[in-house]
Amino acid sequence: MTTSQKDKDFIWHPYTQMRDAFPNIVIERGEGAYLFDEKGNRYIDVVSSWWVNLHGHAHPYLREAINKQFEKIEHVIFAGFTHVPAVNLSEKLLTHLPENQSKVFYSDDGSTAVEVALKMALQYWHNKGEAKTKLVALEGAYHGDTFGAMSTSGRSAFTLPFQSFLFDVEFADFPSNESRTLEQLENLFAKNDVAAFIFEPLVQGTAGMKMYSPELLKQMLSLCKKYNVISISDEVFTGFYRTGKFFAYDYQNEQPDIFCLSKGLTGGVMPLGVTTCTEKIYAAFLSDGSEKIKTFFHGHSYTANPLACAVAVASLELLEKEEIQDAIKRISEKHKLFSGKVKHLKTVKETRHLGTILAIELVGEAGYFSKMRNELYQFFISRGILIRPLGNVIYLVPPYCISDEDLDYVYHAIFEFLER
Ligand SMILES: *Cc1c(COP(=O)(O)O)cnc(C)c1O
Repeated sequence: MTTSQKDKDFIWHPYTQMRDAFPNIVIERGEGAYLFDEKGNRYIDVVSSWWVNLHGHAHPYLREAINKQFEKIEHVIFAGFTHVPAVNLSEKLLTHLPENQSKVFYSDDGSTAVEVALKMALQYWHNKGEAKTKLVALEGAYHGDTFGAMSTSGRSAFTLPFQSFLFDVEFADFPSNESRTLEQLENLFAKNDVAAFIFEPLVQGTAGMKMYSPELLKQMLSLCKKYNVISISDEVFTGFYRTGKFFAYDYQNEQPDIFCLSKGLTGGVMPLGVTTCTEKIYAAFLSDGSEKIKTFFHGHSYTANPLACAVAVASLELLEKEEIQDAIKRISEKHKLFSGKVKHLKTVKETRHLGTILAIELVGEAGYFSKMRNELYQFFISRGILIRPLGNVIYLVPPYCISDEDLDYVYHAIFEFLER
């Protein structure tokens, strides 16, 4: 039996209707922006393998970081013990985060980073003895697939079967009309029972790379401050220069209370989640001797895995290099030019770009079940390009090592599709 046949026999894949799914392509190896299948076909990975890969596949510097760490310790319980990679990573992250951020809490992925943030915010008010129990989010948001993360995500086909099990969250409209969203938020916050507001800063990724302005982000954060609502910035997707700056938050100067990080955190090599918070939040969990009840009782078996932390530190070291800074600017410029070239085509409804993110929304049926989606996916796969459209939205979030030639090849294929 071939690997592909065995895969069909043994494996249930995510987000996949298994009945009529195409056979999964068996990937044998990767190098830079390329993936190679078992037959030797090459694919340009312009989605960075679900938005995680920053420096390309099988990067020698990242491989070395993992190998070196494995020679020392591969994993150790993170209660009662600590290690250099976790400490180094925390120290490094805190230099990039706003100065109000004070403590780093580790978990496994984006969804758990969000669960931790929500639990931190809710327990903060509990520990304070204040009745603030409501959560507020933005319409169309995506914060992950676990229950808390799902509850704070926009209601969709993803959440429908679980509707009655999700906790109550108030949603403000996606800010296509900024003053209306601000008014809605202010009305909700003014009730004085809101524990936290969670949002994706500047870009709602899964919603189809929908974007809003730094000025609005700033105003939303000011509102949180005014009404004493904990602000949770879910930078799981936008972190690590995806938007052109280190964090999307960097486009303005109000400081969120909690950050959620994952995806690009390890350069796309190992799963790892991080939630950071202010000293004020951290301090609300401190209590003396017998009164342990204020403790944050949350953890995961693989919390702060040393291999993951070590490769995350190495990835941050690469990000500091001038050539990578230049690459990010180069990709941003090229996206902008291409966006200008296609936005007036008849088949294009709208284009959006910010930093290394480019989205082209096509005229036609929107949503995850859009028929256009499969046609688009196959069109690009047959040209050796991995693009995974979100309904009628084609988007690119390439690894920063992608060459101009490869980007041009991808743009050309998109142009060809749009002109049909
Ligand atoms: C992907 C994503 C998550 C969930 O992360 P996982 O690692 O897939 O659990 C949460 N928030 C945002 C903004 C994301 O893009």
